[in-house]
Amino acid sequence: MRKYLVAGNWKMNGSRDSAARLINDIIQGLEPRPEAEVLVCPPFVHLAEVNRLLKGSSVALGAQDVCAENNGAYTGEVSGAMLLDCECRYVIVGHSERRALYGETDPMVARKFMTAQKAGLIPILCVGETLADRERGETHVVVTRQLKAVLDAAGAGAFAQAVVAYEPVWAIGTGHTATPEQAQEVHAFIRSLIRTADVKIGDATRLLYGGSVKAANAAELFRMPDVDGGLVGGASLEAREFLAICAAAG
Ligand code: PEP
Repeated sequence: MRKYLVAGNWKMNGSRDSAARLINDIIQGLEPRPEAEVLVCPPFVHLAEVNRLLKGSSVALGAQDVCAENNGAYTGEVSGAMLLDCECRYVIVGHSERRALYGETDPMVARKFMTAQKAGLIPILCVGETLADRERGETHVVVTRQLKAVLDAAGAGAFAQAVVAYEPVWAIGTGHTATPEQAQEVHAFIRSLIRTADVKIGDATRLLYGGSVKAANAAELFRMPDVDGGLVGGASLEAREFLAICAAAG
């Protein structure tokens, strides 16, 4: 049985005050349920304080990115060990904004995935096609390339301690959510790729959908058999909206 995961990606938003208010509102409003795990991924600079406020709650902490190197002269970077030290459990790798805006390549994402795991973190690997890819009929080609880069480098066994997020680029921050059928189709395909490498691990890997998830569409997406929760951007910045999405899981 796969446990749902609802992850909030706060991106580069908020202040110390607003981050504290948001996490307090989430903790107060959340009804913990065994079938769903809730995760927040604040900006690096807010991790320590959010972690302090999360103490005693069931909400997990994650980061939005990690350096592919372990430590040393990498100005501006943050290592997996540092994230673990802040008591992060998860880290997002290969988000489409990092691929598109910061030139992250498939091999680089694979290295981040492996470095994060070696540090003791659970990577959330983001994959997804652009609108142009989809219109060319290349959704599977792109998702295969992005997933295989990690599968080949890390091995199928690594996915026993990893999450995959299918995030069609055309749905991120646009208000255009994939239909539940579109999401299910790609999720089933992603699962089949992992199953080809290892059936048991493929069946157990949690696959999240991301791209304009909101309270109004979460339940229908989460009802699909291969959708195990969501990676939520904009809607995770509003406690009430995020809590409603969490309630839709399971
Ligand atoms: C994201 O950036 O991971 C995301 C899914 O954003 P949004 O929910 O705002 O589309």
